Amino acid sequence: MDLCDLRTIRDLLGRHGFHFSKSMGQNFLIDASVPRDIAMSSGADESCGVLEIGPGIGPLTVQLSRLAGKVAAVELDRSLLPVLEETLAECDNVQVISGDVLKLDLPALVREQFPGLTPLVCANLPYNITTPVLTALVESGCFSSLTVMIQREVARRICAAPGTADYGAFSVFMQYHTEPQLLFDVPPECFYPAPKVTSSVLHCRLRQTPPVETEDPAFFFRVVRAAFALRRKTLLNSLSSALGGFDKEVLRQAIADCGLPADIRGERLGLEEFAALAHALAPYRSK
Ligand code: SAH
Repeated sequence: MDLCDLRTIRDLLGRHGFHFSKSMGQNFLIDASVPRDIAMSSGADESCGVLEIGPGIGPLTVQLSRLAGKVAAVELDRSLLPVLEETLAECDNVQVISGDVLKLDLPALVREQFPGLTPLVCANLPYNITTPVLTALVESGCFSSLTVMIQREVARRICAAPGTADYGAFSVFMQYHTEPQLLFDVPPECFYPAPKVTSSVLHCRLRQTPPVETEDPAFFFRVVRAAFALRRKTLLNSLSSALGGFDKEVLRQAIADCGLPADIRGERLGLEEFAALAHALAPYRSK
């Protein structure tokens, strides 16, 4: 069955009485080259266990099943389960898991589903939960890489360089934990129904060691978030308003000690500079 052929999809969904849900970010792929290319880009082979999020009717799942040792596909919409049972009938190494990816215990899932395999993620994500899903996947510490299709705008934010309009706290978070790489764009016409935005496929290799040294990553990220809290203000004013518990004078001195201009904006700082700033501020933290 060609799971990217529109007539096949309409017939399949009609027989199962399926209706699309906007709130679940349902846009199904209708260009067969796209799931093939995404699966290939994941680098999955028999030694890998692949977590897929939101299989839909399974076009990417089938491709992953061919490459990987095992695929675990988590689908929130229960009405897709009977559809997947039909479309994945011949994929013996696929386990469909009914549930919300944001509520799963990811380390437990990885232990149960992928013993002896290298865990990685490959998915056409539901776009309404892109940021929380990527955050949870990174913070789980379970995966060696994430290959995801997301909105182009978010993909660009993740890869953005300091000083650009796209650069923000989420760029720093993703670049601290991973090496993000933009692979290719996918236009709206490749989906049914067509989304309003262009999509991009992103590959993020998880780092074994952080790219900069931080004594306390939680404090480092508090400083980063505070630096971006007031984007149009100086770093000093943004920190002063959003990083509780520090005298403005201490903040001013820490910025100067890092060799940064007094009127610099937070968006100009790279990972090294944020690490230096967090290091300079750490002794002044209220206990
Ligand atoms: N991979 C398919 C479908 C992508 S659409 C394709 O490329 O054609 C996104 C899918 O994610 C839908 O199947 C939707 O039901 C599912 N989904 C949405 N929110 C989810 C969540 N919180 N957990 C798991 N799956 C979710």
